[in-house]
Amino acid sequence: MSNIILAETAGFCFGVNRAVEMVYDLLNKGEKVCTLGPIIHNPQLVEELNSKGVRIVESPEEVLQDEVLVIRSHGVPRAVFDQAETLGAKIADATCPFVSKIHKIVAEAGENGRTVLIAGDRDHKEVVGIIGHSKGKCFVFADETELESFVINGEIESNEPISVVSQTTFNNDMWNNCQKTLKKVYTNTKIFDTICNATAKRQQESKLLSQQCDAMIVIGGRHSSNTKKLSEVCSVNCLNTHLIETADELKCEWFSDASSIGVVAGASTPAGIIKEVLKTMSDALTPEKEEQKVNYDEMTFEEALEASLSSLNTDQKVKGYVLAVGPTELQVDIGRKQAGFVAQSEFSSDPNVKLTDAVKVGDILDLVIMKTNDQEGTVMLSKRRFDAIAGWDKVVAASESGEALEGTVSEIIKGGLTVYYTGVRIFIPASQATASRSDNIEDLKGKTVNFKVIKIERGRRAIGSIRAVLSQLRKESENKLWETIAVGDKFNGTVKSLTGYGAFVDLGGVDGMVHISELSWQRIKNPSEIVSVGDKIEVYVKSLDAEKRKISLGYKKADENPWEVFKNTYSAGSVVNVKVVSMTAYGAFARIIPGVDGLIHISQIADRRIDKPQDELSIGQEVNVQITEIDLDKKRVSLSIRALLDTQTSEETAEETKEETAEVKAEATTEENSAE
Ligand code: SF4
Repeated sequence: MSNIILAETAGFCFGVNRAVEMVYDLLNKGEKVCTLGPIIHNPQLVEELNSKGVRIVESPEEVLQDEVLVIRSHGVPRAVFDQAETLGAKIADATCPFVSKIHKIVAEAGENGRTVLIAGDRDHKEVVGIIGHSKGKCFVFADETELESFVINGEIESNEPISVVSQTTFNNDMWNNCQKTLKKVYTNTKIFDTICNATAKRQQESKLLSQQCDAMIVIGGRHSSNTKKLSEVCSVNCLNTHLIETADELKCEWFSDASSIGVVAGASTPAGIIKEVLKTMSDALTPEKEEQKVNYDEMTFEEALEASLSSLNTDQKVKGYVLAVGPTELQVDIGRKQAGFVAQSEFSSDPNVKLTDAVKVGDILDLVIMKTNDQEGTVMLSKRRFDAIAGWDKVVAASESGEALEGTVSEIIKGGLTVYYTGVRIFIPASQATASRSDNIEDLKGKTVNFKVIKIERGRRAIGSIRAVLSQLRKESENKLWETIAVGDKFNGTVKSLTGYGAFVDLGGVDGMVHISELSWQRIKNPSEIVSVGDKIEVYVKSLDAEKRKISLGYKKADENPWEVFKNTYSAGSVVNVKVVSMTAYGAFARIIPGVDGLIHISQIADRRIDKPQDELSIGQEVNVQITEIDLDKKRVSLSIRALLDTQTSEETAEETKEETAEVKAEATTEENSAE
C-alpha cells in the first residue's frame, strides 16, 4: 500500500482563517456581507458563502447601504479605505496583520524619503495593496535580474536610500538570492524580511516532502498565489506533482507506481476539502482492506490538523500588553517572540462589547493562551476564558452565600434573558426577571441589574433571579417603613392598581389603600375617574393596622372641601344661580357648587300651591334662588325661589301703588282746575 504523507502545514493559515471567521461572525450576527473580491482563493468556500448571501464586489461603490464590506487578508490600497469612508460604507478589515505590518513599513519609508522596493508579483492584489500604502517612489521586482535593472536603467541610484519588503508569499529561495543582489548593487538599504512564516514553512515543507515522495498532490485554488508557488516548488523535485482543487480531480494513474505520496495544501484550502482528498486517496489505494484505511473519523480531521499545527498551552494564564486595538481583534505583547492576538469573540462573552470602547493601547489584560503556532509565529489568546474561569468561582460562591451580583442584561431570549457576570453567562427565566409578571422584560435589555444565583446546574449553567433581589429589597424597605410610619405622614406614592373600591398606592416598599370615598369630595363611581395606574400622587396616612400590616390612605385635600369653600363664599340671604340636579315629592335638589347641593322645598318653588316640583322645574334647569338657611353641622342648605318672587311681588305692588297714587293726584288736580 502506498504511504500518504500529509504536510503538517496544510490548511488555513492564521490570516485566512481570521478573514473567513470574520465573515461567518458577521453572518451569525445577522449582518449582510459583501467582500472586496473573493474572500479567499478557494472557489468551493466562496460558493458556500455565496449561498449564504455573501456578495463579491469590485469596489466600495457597489456596497449596498445595509451591507458590511469585508476587506480580505491580502489588504487593499489606502485609497480604498478613504473611498469607503467617503461613501459611508461599513468596513470590516480582515487584512492579515502580517500584511498590515508591510503597509506600515512602506508608508514610513516614503515619509522618510526612502524609495520602496517590493519583491513580488506586481499584479497580485497583495502587492497592489502594498503599493497603495507607499508615499514616495516605489518599484516592484520579480527576481534578481529585475532588481539589478533599476540601477542599470538609471531608475534608482545605487546609493539611494531604499527600503525593501517582500510579498508575504514570495519564494524563499528567490528572496535569499535577491538579498545577495541587493547587498551587491545597493549601498544604502534597509531590508525587511516580510515573507510570512506560514508561507516560508509551507514552502520549506513542500520542498522536503517533494524530495522524498514519488507523487505530490497540491490542494488549493488555481488562482491562489501561494498554492501555485507550492506547486512550483514541488514540481522542481517531483515531476509527478498535481495541483487539484477538489477530490473529484484525483486520478488513480498518478499513484500506480508511487510508494509514497505527499499531500500539501495552500493557505486558503479549507480543512474539509483536504479531508475529502485524503479519504478519496485512501479509499482508492486500499479498496479491499477496510482496516488499512486511514481512520479520520476517530479524531476529526480538524482536530488532527490542529494537533499538527499547534502546540497547545490550554489554560496557561498570562498578562498581555495591548499593542493595537481593532474592531475585530486586539494585538498584544505577552513577552514572547510570537505575536499575540485576542479575537473579538474571545474578548468577552457579551456580544455587545465593542473592543474599541472597552480597550485602549497600553492596557494590561489577564489572558489565557488558547493556541500557540510556532510556524506562523502567533499565539491566540482569550480574555473571555480567563474571565470565565475566575468568574465561575465567584458565581458558585455567590450561589452558596446568597450574595446579590451585578451584571448587564445582554440578550432577551426565549423564556427569559441573559446576564453576564465577569464573563459568565447567567440565564434568568422570565418568571424571575421582574417584580411583577406584568412588567415587560424587553425594557431590561442593556440595563445593569442585581440578581441572585438561585441554581447551579451541570455543564456550568447558572440560573439567576432578579425577582429574588427585588423581593428582598422590598421586604427591607417594608420593615424600615413600619418602624417609623405614623398617622398623618405624607408620602409621594405611585398608583399600583385600581379596584372598584379604591386605589392601591406604593409608598416605596409598602402598599397602602385609598378608599374610593377618600379619592374625591364628590361622589364618584370608580377610582379611575380620579387616578390612573402609574400616577404619582401625594397621600397621607389616615389609619394603620400594624398587626395586619394595612395602611389606609387619604388623598382628597381639606382645603378643597366644598363645604369649606361654600362657608367662605355664601351666607343666608345670598342669591345664587343654581342647577336642578334631582327631584323628590317634597322638593328639588339644586347644585350650588360641586359637592354642595341645597333643597328647594316644594312650598318654596312657586308663589302658589303646586302639586309636584316637576310642575315648575326640570332636571338641569338653572334658576335663581335665595339661600334661606344653612346648617353646616348637618350639611344642609335650604333654598327658595318663592322668596325672590315674594320680594319681586312686593316691589311690583309698591311700584303700582306709587303709580296709582300719582294718577289719583293727577286726577284731583284736573278736577280742581276744571272747578276754577
Ligand atoms: S499567508 Fe501569512 S500573510 Fe498571508 S494571510 Fe496567511 S498568515 Fe497572513
